[in-house]
Amino acid sequence: MRLKKHEREQVRLKYGGHCAYCGVELGPKWHADHLQSVRRGTSHRWEGNAERPQNHNLDNMMPACAPCNLSKSQMPLEAWREFLVGHVNSLNLYHPIYRLAKAYGLIAETAAPVVFYFEKVTNDQH
Ligand SMILES: [Zn+2]
Repeated sequence: MRLKKHEREQVRLKYGGHCAYCGVELGPKWHADHLQSVRRGTSHRWEGNAERPQNHNLDNMMPACAPCNLSKSQMPLEAWREFLVGHVNSLNLYHPIYRLAKAYGLIAETAAPVVFYFEKVTNDQH
């Protein structure tokens, strides 16, 4: 399942050296993510163990920063998008310092849709 060095470089440059999801410039410890996961496993909404080796190909590989890759895990893209949207609720429910910072006007919630970097880049080209 390991990518060869030149394949990995091809994946890294897919979005100009940026994380395909959040758009951060990738550092040396970036991850090659499977857009459609190869394995179903322990993730937030995804159960089972069916291997899908057909998803291990360069077209399906996305350059990702570690936080995005670890958060997405084996979730399908739309499930992950919903999961990310839910982070604001989680912050409000479980993190008093977030609520306090919000009360002091340090944080403004925007209800902006989650648009991944690769979606923005793709749209800009049209
Ligand atoms: Zn990212």
